Amino acid sequence: MNEAKLKKILAKVDKPSRYCGGELNTPNIKADAPFKYLLCFPDVYEVAMSNLGIKILYGILNNRADTVCETAYAPWEDMAKILEEEDLPLFSSETRRPMCDFDMIGFSMQYELSYTTVLYMLRLGKVKLLCKERGEDDPIVMAGGPCVVNPLPLADFIDLFSIGDGEQTLDELAALYNENKKSGGTRKDFLEKAAKIEGVYVPSVGKKNVRRAVIADLDSAYFPTAPQVPNIEAVHNRAVLEIFRGCTRGCRFCQAGMIYRPVRERSVDTIVRYAEELIDNCGFDEISLSSLSTCDYPDLRPLLQKLKPITDARRVTIALPSTRVDSFEAEFVEQSRKGSLTFAPEAGTQRLRDVINKNITEDDIFTCMRRAFEKGYSSVKLYFMIGLPTETDEDLLAIADLAARIKRLYRECATGRGFVNITVSASTFVPKPFTPFQWEPQIGKDEIRRKQDLLKTALSKIRVNFNYHGSDSSVLEAVFARGDEKLGKVILKASEKGCVFDSWGEYFDFEKWQAAFGECGVKMQDYTREFGEEEVLPWSFVDVGVTQEYLKEERARSRQAETTPDCRGNCRRCGLQNRKAAFKNSCAKHIKRELPRKG
Ligand code: SF4
Repeated sequence: MNEAKLKKILAKVDKPSRYCGGELNTPNIKADAPFKYLLCFPDVYEVAMSNLGIKILYGILNNRADTVCETAYAPWEDMAKILEEEDLPLFSSETRRPMCDFDMIGFSMQYELSYTTVLYMLRLGKVKLLCKERGEDDPIVMAGGPCVVNPLPLADFIDLFSIGDGEQTLDELAALYNENKKSGGTRKDFLEKAAKIEGVYVPSVGKKNVRRAVIADLDSAYFPTAPQVPNIEAVHNRAVLEIFRGCTRGCRFCQAGMIYRPVRERSVDTIVRYAEELIDNCGFDEISLSSLSTCDYPDLRPLLQKLKPITDARRVTIALPSTRVDSFEAEFVEQSRKGSLTFAPEAGTQRLRDVINKNITEDDIFTCMRRAFEKGYSSVKLYFMIGLPTETDEDLLAIADLAARIKRLYRECATGRGFVNITVSASTFVPKPFTPFQWEPQIGKDEIRRKQDLLKTALSKIRVNFNYHGSDSSVLEAVFARGDEKLGKVILKASEKGCVFDSWGEYFDFEKWQAAFGECGVKMQDYTREFGEEEVLPWSFVDVGVTQEYLKEERARSRQAETTPDCRGNCRRCGLQNRKAAFKNSCAKHIKRELPRKG
């Protein structure tokens, strides 16, 4: 699209900066590179620009001499309307190249409710929606990210899935594409060869055992220290530095805690070097040390000591997200702005916290709150889940009791400092593949609402704020998380009915989804029911590293409310011990003993 035309369009849309490109740190775009890749995020610019994964992949591809990588995000409805009216294809931010003119298009799938937005973007980009309709001259459509550990619901639309760490896979795919092109290979040749790369699943080649790709050494892996800086305020407006990947706590509902194992850390020196470069290259006034559980970084204290002079000199604050109550040290967060603190006890009673293996006690919660209040915090957000396996009304009401006692504790610790602001946020439990709870049912919509109402009433009596997610979207999330190929036609039908941006409350239209399921003859209950342990699960051909035996054993322990300790130091041979290179660089450094397992 030419610039004059673009200017005219941008004058008519809300937030034109979403589409105009030219972000700080945009690399030199090698327009003549033989391999042209479009990195897409099925959500709006402000959400996409907060995602670290796409920044990593963007850097890796643009560092290759034979590849150019550009970006496209989901246009808001005003922009989409103009593109359709003027018959213009969705285009890349960098060079305005139409989506359909790229060799490969890659979607980052972070959330099941973005599946229809993928179709919306492909349609706007004039790319054929179904793999079977695409031919030699059409782009290859790929997808990666946490959702694709179960790739089947999207298999009708995605030619190639990248499962696991994408750094090496994408580099290998770019090399393969160029090699295949040079030797005169066809699209089919490329896809067949790509299917042999670790972590790649190509539906047209057929189901085979796909091993998740795992970066063995994170410290030497690429990290972007000069990422693009958004033109407008992003959801997370700060520099993000991943200090380690994976989590060893073993919460039984948590998919990320299982599918990113083993824990791989960056060294203090590497983090400090990257932090300095990031701050200097991006100009943010906050840097987030990101991971699934940041206070579990073993050298956090020396790291913060080394970072302090660098951040102080530049007036930058350090944010420590994903902090657990049992590892919270008030001094660690002193450098952060004293806003609201967020913790996730997940369940109100000790029994239920043991069932889910949260491994925190009431003592941990109250010690953490006391430290926070004594340091001057007066606003706390507490995250819980409702509908967890074995949950009773007593467990739910214990959430309100916990909040009431935290309020009382504040009055003791912070006499004369005014009111405490406590917000309880409750999401609905969604059984996810590759977790010990992958076989568990999700409670029905009516029961979700009843539980939400029960908790809402109890919290309103003690004047505690309450946030919760809609029950309909949680049901749909569960359906797609554990779905199979039959859902492809439902996604297509829902998309034809206008479903898009389903994770945005104002766009989510459950009636349209119900109609799509009905017309396709597919029942949601088939995916929210309890799955049998002997059933072949739709995702069983994917090997993420953690074995089914380990997951079954953990599920059995949950039924007895038996906890399993953090595996950093207490290895239970979850399956990752078979990934020799990664194991040597991670688990092997921490193991003090092996805990016995049945069998
Ligand atoms: S192999 Fe052992 S230490 Fe490594 S992730 Fe599994 S249980 Fe934890």
